[in-house]
Amino acid sequence: MAVNREAYLQLKKELDVEGVTLVAVSKTKPFEEILELYNLGHRDFGENYVQEMAEKAKQLPQDIRWHFIGHLQTNKVKLIVSFVQLIQSVDSLKLLLEINKQAQKVNRVVDCLMQVHIAQEETKFGLDENELIELMKEFESKGMQNVRICGLMGMASFTDDMNKVRKEFQNLKRLFDRLTTHDSRLTTLSMGMTSDYRIAIEDGSNMVRIGSLIFGERN
Ligand SMILES: *Cc1c(COP(=O)(O)O)cnc(C)c1O
Repeated sequence: MAVNREAYLQLKKELDVEGVTLVAVSKTKPFEEILELYNLGHRDFGENYVQEMAEKAKQLPQDIRWHFIGHLQTNKVKLIVSFVQLIQSVDSLKLLLEINKQAQKVNRVVDCLMQVHIAQEETKFGLDENELIELMKEFESKGMQNVRICGLMGMASFTDDMNKVRKEFQNLKRLFDRLTTHDSRLTTLSMGMTSDYRIAIEDGSNMVRIGSLIFGERN
């Protein structure tokens, strides 16, 4: 397995035209492949596992922007808080409070996205609409100084039914628009992966998280 340079360069060109940020999802991939992409100028990488991301961040160039996109346990926040660029998977008040607390200790303001459950599948993490609204209210009332909520992240159902995928993305976009009319600090809508990023962009995504298209299938 190696980086598919051609696919990457083509994708990058396509996304630049659209003004969409590309997060290269490098979970399970070795240092060398990340470096290969780095040497093509890429800086935004996404990881799912705390220990793996921390290890990679230690060994790889310091100007890489690490995005955490997996399920984050509160007891692991401290392992990434000092360097993470964007935590895309916040799904509870408890987690938000912990990020705020740990960020305060290292004197940082950490950017976060709220993960919204848009898929009809049971297995995906994330907040439903009411929980999200509630969480945003709590965030305001608690005056957390060391986290910044920058937007939303969502994953569509794992299905070949692209109409269903599109509906899910449209629901998330609608929710995003509703929130942004009240809060201009929300700017990022992270949706779309290898199989559905084109649909996601058509439906208003401005950040995609793409792994297998760039790095090949994961084991
Ligand atoms: C693995 C993963 C991706 C990338 O998936 P691909 O299908 O390989 O592009 C995107 N987002 C999240 C949250 C992931 O866990």
